[in-house]
Amino acid sequence: PPILLWFRRDFRLSDHPALAEAARQGRPVIPVCILDEVVEGYGAAPKWRWGEAVAQFSKSLEAIGSRLILRRGRALDVLQKLAKETGASDVWWTRAYDPEAIARDTDVKSTLRQSGIDARSFSGHVLFEPWTVTTKAGGFFKVYSPMWRAVRGLDIPLPDPAPRGLMPPADWPTSDDQQDWALEAAMNRGAGVLAQFACIGEESAHDRLTTFLEARVDDYAKNRDFPAIDATSRLSENLAWGEIGPRTIWHAGQRVLQEGRPGAEKFLKEVVWREFAYHLIFHTPHITAKNWRPEWDSFPWSETEDGDVLRWKQGRTGIPLVDAAMRELYVTGTMHNRGRMIVGSYLTKHMMTHWRIGLNWFEDCLIDWDPAANAMGWQWVAGSGPDAAPYFRVFNPVTQADKFDAGRTYINDYVGELSPSPSDRALAFYQACPRSWALTPDDPYPAPVVNLAVGRARALEAYAARE
Ligand code: FAD
Repeated sequence: PPILLWFRRDFRLSDHPALAEAARQGRPVIPVCILDEVVEGYGAAPKWRWGEAVAQFSKSLEAIGSRLILRRGRALDVLQKLAKETGASDVWWTRAYDPEAIARDTDVKSTLRQSGIDARSFSGHVLFEPWTVTTKAGGFFKVYSPMWRAVRGLDIPLPDPAPRGLMPPADWPTSDDQQDWALEAAMNRGAGVLAQFACIGEESAHDRLTTFLEARVDDYAKNRDFPAIDATSRLSENLAWGEIGPRTIWHAGQRVLQEGRPGAEKFLKEVVWREFAYHLIFHTPHITAKNWRPEWDSFPWSETEDGDVLRWKQGRTGIPLVDAAMRELYVTGTMHNRGRMIVGSYLTKHMMTHWRIGLNWFEDCLIDWDPAANAMGWQWVAGSGPDAAPYFRVFNPVTQADKFDAGRTYINDYVGELSPSPSDRALAFYQACPRSWALTPDDPYPAPVVNLAVGRARALEAYAARE
């Protein structure tokens, strides 16, 4: 009987333990992808980007003589129905670690097993499953550095090569037409703008890794904080949808480390930040919704989506570096890591607005949206999370700009009002804006939503009052 192989955020052929095992079985394999209750809840840009990953992966499967069967509905119902239609005896998938996915998968696994189907999950999304690495005392890591020291020398299995073929079933079940899912519909910014910047599919992801390791890793540690420099790997977009596996990245990084290339260790350390995020989301799932440290629950953050919050979302706070980063997010679906820290600090500290508002906006806009990294990032910035930046360390976006964008290249690239001849990206922002924002390139640059000195003093006062 066939194996149903359920793909969720793991759209690749290589470095895929469940797929490799299915190919080895010498049995028919039916790859399946479901627009299910978890995906329906994704924000607009991630949902669109998920669909792009699905479409590209369908082509990859076709190239090895297989297909991706698309269905829409509650995951359990769809899988039960497909198992009945195809006579499949097994349903396999790659494990996820965020609370929504775990709730769905636990239910799917136990119900399918009760009906005699071998429901099995495999590793593949992370290097170290969250329960396999522990502190010396046997607990989970709440701080990054000891986790890095504990895992840096561990043996990671080599990635599985892509199978050359998958045995097809005697009859293929019917599949939805992906066009009918209209995944771009939720995006009022229009997929056209994001599509110019997205880098979709397994082959593109591998090219990105190769280019990074050949051309940029040497200067990575030196340049990674400068948003105008193309210094980082940009692999987060592909890791988020599983278009490349972490083992592939890890072993490629280890090879250049052994060659003595500068920057290699720093890069591997960043890859382990992603692992740390998964470790945390698994052991403390409340990180996605509630203050990781409950002592922050009484902090007077505003949770009102007022006009100031709208201006933060629009990149019109009147603070050039914050605005450049927010527009980068809106136009490209990604944001440089330094930008993420600065806009997060401005929102949660200068504007005294709850990190959840920022987390939700990122979840709506990012094409590299990752439930673990996003939650950890926001709680880090706000000061409420594990191993977080202390709340009293308020980023000053003016000195940050002097330090990391001294030539104003990044700011000018995104904030057209400040440049004598606005760049294509600055103008793309106005194409991307929903009509309801009524923004035009002729609008004058706004005065600050919150004066930096006043905002900083207010935040520190609230922090002192909390103690
Ligand atoms: P590189 O510098 O090339 O790093 C290599 C890889 O390491 C990245 O692809 C990523 O997988 C991992 N990594 C690097 N930094 C971090 C980090 N701080 N936390 C976790 N993993 C990291 N990252 C996401 O992938 N998705 C998100 O939704 C996300 N939201 C964030 C929200 C906030 C508020 C902050 C401060 C950070 C967030 N990050 C998120 C982390 C980080 O900004 C991005 O991973 C990074 O900018 C991706 O660029 P890159 O692939 O070029 O990274």
